[in-house]
Amino acid sequence: MTSADTLAKLASSLLDGSIRVVDCAAPLGPDTPLLKLPPELAVDTPKIEIHPISKYNDTGPWWAWNWLKLGEHSGTHYDAPHHWVTGKDFPDGSVDTIDPQAFVAPANVIDCAAEAAADNDFLLTADAVKAWEAEHGEIKAGEWVLMRTDWDQFNTDEDKFLNADGEGMPHTPGPDQGCIEYLMEKQALGWGTQCIGTDAGMAATFPVPFPAHNLLHKNNRYGLASLVNLDKLPPKGAIFIANPLKIVEGTGSPVRALALVPA
Ligand code: MN
Repeated sequence: MTSADTLAKLASSLLDGSIRVVDCAAPLGPDTPLLKLPPELAVDTPKIEIHPISKYNDTGPWWAWNWLKLGEHSGTHYDAPHHWVTGKDFPDGSVDTIDPQAFVAPANVIDCAAEAAADNDFLLTADAVKAWEAEHGEIKAGEWVLMRTDWDQFNTDEDKFLNADGEGMPHTPGPDQGCIEYLMEKQALGWGTQCIGTDAGMAATFPVPFPAHNLLHKNNRYGLASLVNLDKLPPKGAIFIANPLKIVEGTGSPVRALALVPA
């Protein structure tokens, strides 16, 4: 089968519905949950605003359009290497310079939903990833690794989504340092989660703070956050499409993440 045959087969499968498109992006608007940093650390990303320019009215009788106020790291979004100081020097590390070949790739979906429900601070380890590989097959170079926690069920409630305690410490699942180190050894394309960021809620307190951010971007790899509908993806076999806006020198971008899955 030639690559042209493969594409033709994909085209007919999309048209006849035997391959379905799963929407892995959350709605993007004023109610989108956003990261809250400790007050001593930094300025937060602003709330999303959608402002009408015109809506079939005096300022535009035949058309409607809006302008947006939008942080790069808002809602379902992509982290580029330049997001973190460890990745700041890669010439292809901003969203406008990343090779677009990286925007379409196979996905490995590791189901941690039960563990995350039992323990909101659940951490995925390298050993757990290896056990998953023994059951489902090896993670290959250039593939996404996505952590399914079903945290998207909280996406419409910022308090539940961030799950901060009385002292402001968030309690959400994520990877430990060894997990990301292992995925970088495997040359995974990147790491995605269903929580507000790629790291666990308590990752600021880890020996290497924010290991997902630190190590992914140090290796010129990518992150995805606030993904939804990972429960509709198979453990292996989905093709994941996550293409950030071509923001000049952008460190990230909201994405309409999509997965191609067998019907
Ligand atoms: Mn981000």
